[in-house]
Amino acid sequence: MQSLPAAFLGYERLYGEIPVVYAPGTEEWASEVSRLLSTGSVALSGLLGVEPPELEVMLVTDKDWTGAPREGERAYPKGLPYFTRSARPPALVLPATLSPVFRPRTQATYPLVVWHELAHAFLLQEEVVRTPAWLGEFVPQAASASVARRIGLPLDEHLGMIDRTPGFINRELKGYADAGEQMAFQNLLLLLGVDAVEEFGDGFLKRLVRALWEETDVVNDERAEELLADALGLGGLKWLASRPEF
Ligand SMILES: [Zn+2]
Repeated sequence: MQSLPAAFLGYERLYGEIPVVYAPGTEEWASEVSRLLSTGSVALSGLLGVEPPELEVMLVTDKDWTGAPREGERAYPKGLPYFTRSARPPALVLPATLSPVFRPRTQATYPLVVWHELAHAFLLQEEVVRTPAWLGEFVPQAASASVARRIGLPLDEHLGMIDRTPGFINRELKGYADAGEQMAFQNLLLLLGVDAVEEFGDGFLKRLVRALWEETDVVNDERAEELLADALGLGGLKWLASRPEF
C-alpha cells in the first residue's frame, strides 16, 4: 500500500480487484469506477491471456490534480487520465471530472476511458519498444471496445456519434496535435478496432500484444502494419489495405 501525498489527506481507499483511492465526497463515483475496473480487469485478463498488473487507481478532483503522482515537475492537463510508475504500486490517475475534450459524450464514454487506461497498464507489464503512436493507441482502443462487447455494454450510440470523415489518416498524426485532433485520432482508432473485432474476432489482440512484447527494435510504420496484419491472421493484410486509414 502506498502512502499518499499530503494533498490527498482525507482521501479514502476502496478495496476491490484494483484498489481505488478517492476524494472525499466522490464515494458513489468511486464505487462505479471500482466496478468498471473489476469487470475491465477480468475481461482484459481473458482477452489478452495475462494476469492483471499490480495497480492502484487514484480518483482525483480538479482541486487536487496538481498534487497527483507523476513523472516530472509539471502537472499534466486537468481531466486527462494517465498511468504513472512514479508511485508504488504504479498508479492510474483518473479525473473525477473528465476533460471536455473527450467526445462523443455518451454512457459509454467514461467506461471506455477507464478500460483504455487499464489496457495500457496491462500492456506495460512488460517492456514495450517504441512504436508509431497509432499502434500504441490502437491496442487500448480495440481492447476497450472488446471489453464493452464482452460485458454487453452497447456502443452503437457512441460509435454513431463519431465523425467518420476526419481530415487526416492515422499515420499522418505525428508529434504535436491539438486536443481536437487527438480525439479524432483516438476515435478513428476506436472505429478501426471495432471493425477489426467484427471481422476477425477479438483473439488478434492477444497475438498483437505478444508480438509487441517480443519486438526488440523500434517499430516503424511498415513493421507496425505488418505486426497488426499478422496478428489479424488470414486476410489481415488485404483487409488493412482496404481501409481508408492506411
Ligand atoms: Zn492511450
